[in-house]
Amino acid sequence: MKKRLAAWAAVLLATLLLAAGAAQASTGATLRLTSLLDPSQSVDASYDLGALYAGGGASAGASAGAASAGATYWWYYDTTYYRMLVPGTSSGPNASYLMWAYLIDDYLSAAYSSARAVLGADNGGYGLINTWLYYDSANRDLLGYYTYGGNDIHLNLAASNQSAADYGATMAHETAHVLFDHKTHLYDRDPVAEAWLTEALAYYVGDTVYPYGYNAGYSYNSAVLKYYSDNGAQKSSWYESGARYDSRGGYSGATALDQAQVETIGYFLANYSSEGWGAIQDMVNYLAQGQSIDSALTNAYGLASGQMGTDSGEGVNTLYSKYIYYYLGHY
Ligand SMILES: [Zn+2]
Repeated sequence: MKKRLAAWAAVLLATLLLAAGAAQASTGATLRLTSLLDPSQSVDASYDLGALYAGGGASAGASAGAASAGATYWWYYDTTYYRMLVPGTSSGPNASYLMWAYLIDDYLSAAYSSARAVLGADNGGYGLINTWLYYDSANRDLLGYYTYGGNDIHLNLAASNQSAADYGATMAHETAHVLFDHKTHLYDRDPVAEAWLTEALAYYVGDTVYPYGYNAGYSYNSAVLKYYSDNGAQKSSWYESGARYDSRGGYSGATALDQAQVETIGYFLANYSSEGWGAIQDMVNYLAQGQSIDSALTNAYGLASGQMGTDSGEGVNTLYSKYIYYYLGHY
């Protein structure tokens, strides 16, 4: 799952983006609309198939009014790593969704490569990742989501102010979830605790590693945690933050601090160890062998997670405690 950042962080991001300059992607991909899927895979009735967002700036390009409320067919075409699925009618795909698929197409290779590079895992054996384009204007803060253990990503074209490059960042994020699930199957044996870890990795891939995104570095991550924790006055365990963020195990109602934590743990995991991504990849491999989260982290980092509590201090040798100091400069 990937949600839009809260207002303060969005302002900081906009500043960073201006400083970085707009990334350009090459164009010219060829559309390959070759097959019609089973019509029984119709658009869910809860989907809002009204006019696609046609605002200004980077989000312009989808023609308003082209989406049909009567869409009952999914059309698709295949790219190197993804099958792009576009709603339409029996006579063809919806033109404005298709235009978005075409625009996002240019960023898919970078999205997949970012996830694969960090995790050291691909989607081997599972084929192309199904990517369903939908439009839900009632949830403009939700950019996209995946299905646990599945091979499907859903992109919300109604998300506010998203460029094609931004959707690429969401694809990188969701792809990290899919590859992590397929490699480790941790969602199956520890589904509640898995939430913070999979989100941490996914946010790091989408927001820092994906080359056409925010490229969020230490200063950004540190500022986010400082701001939403009130400089450490507010604390939440990684376990509860992840569970609330992904609504698992009976938890729900994520706070801004919960979201700030799932967004910043991954950068810490990628940079705290001198092994860099190697530590993440070691952890992934230990998880793939069936180890628990804490066994895998201990073997990869020399520290258990401390995920269940908020104890921190010089003598508290957990990753949680080190994370607090890493970003706040105090316990
Ligand atoms: Zn996510």
